[in-house]
Amino acid sequence: MTSWNNFIDVLVSVVIPAFNEAEGIGHAIGEIQRVMDKSGVRYELIVVDDGSQDGTFETVRNLGRSNKKLKGMKLSRNFGKEAALLAGLEAAGGDAVITMDADLQHPPGLIPEMLAKWKEGFKVVHGRKRDRVSDNMLVRWRASAFNYMLSRLGGIDVQHSSDFKLLDRVVVDVIIRQLPEKRRFFRGLAGWVGFEQTEIPFSVVARKAGNGKWSMAALFELAATALVSFTTAPLRIVSVLGLVTLAFGMVVAADTLWSWFKGEAVSGYSTIIITLLILGSFIMISLGIVGEYIAKMYEEIKGRPPYLITARYGFKEDQAAAGDKFCAGEKMR
Ligand code: UDP
Ligand code: MG
Repeated sequence: MTSWNNFIDVLVSVVIPAFNEAEGIGHAIGEIQRVMDKSGVRYELIVVDDGSQDGTFETVRNLGRSNKKLKGMKLSRNFGKEAALLAGLEAAGGDAVITMDADLQHPPGLIPEMLAKWKEGFKVVHGRKRDRVSDNMLVRWRASAFNYMLSRLGGIDVQHSSDFKLLDRVVVDVIIRQLPEKRRFFRGLAGWVGFEQTEIPFSVVARKAGNGKWSMAALFELAATALVSFTTAPLRIVSVLGLVTLAFGMVVAADTLWSWFKGEAVSGYSTIIITLLILGSFIMISLGIVGEYIAKMYEEIKGRPPYLITARYGFKEDQAAAGDKFCAGEKMR
């Protein structure tokens, strides 16, 4: 347990996932360290290079030569931000872990406030996005559609949520040790664990360097993971579709019977076409929804590690295990 009588003794880990951030990572590290140095706590910075192609890891390693607080690890390919975050959490040795982006969109200036909340006894401090004025219309629309869908269906409030968080060691241990899930939705899990939680609002400023790293496909993948891992509500949509079909069928049946009693010919062809098309699409949608859950189960059952590490720099264990360069995610602590 953390003892606040000696705040000097606690260690705080800052975990920064980075994918092709070579351009801005040096500046970001500098800014973050300036704040951390001022705060007076002992800290380590862990940059998790998520399979960058632009020399992000090399940049971090070069900076690390004269900067003992800086540690880096490189994943063997782009596993995605969720995996990179997990890798960072697993490598972190701090009494608290702060997760933040490498593009300074999560203002380092908020860290002292987070630390103060932690000191008050909060186990999770969420950074809450106030607005996204800096992003363009399309990005904003995408983010709000994504959030709306998740909060309506997922039953978790993800509106304005971000990956800028402080987690106490207790929570980090729950997430890395007690949750066997391979595909995670960090934002949701940090809320799910419970404990004392609080949030601090911040404004999202424009990216300092480079471009956003999310492709549309990656965003959909994240949405699907978030939904499927947090709720079975979409499965209920299948039942609702069934009920809608039933109601529709009853109306058509009544109409058909009525025409038959009156001795009129039923307008058969178009009815059949419409019925077939509606039924067909309902069945396809239902299969898709069920399929998502089966896919999720399949992914989990395969039990592959969520990420692989090819290189690490600056960690104590590395000197001990020099040469042991290739290791599966969960084994690293
Ligand atoms: N990121 C990552 N792996 C990816 C995509 C992004 O580690 O596959 C990192 C990226 O380098 C950045 C953070 O996740 O530090 C947020 O990414 P980005 O700024 O592109 O997203 P947004 O600000 O739109 O949430
Ligand atoms: Mg960003």
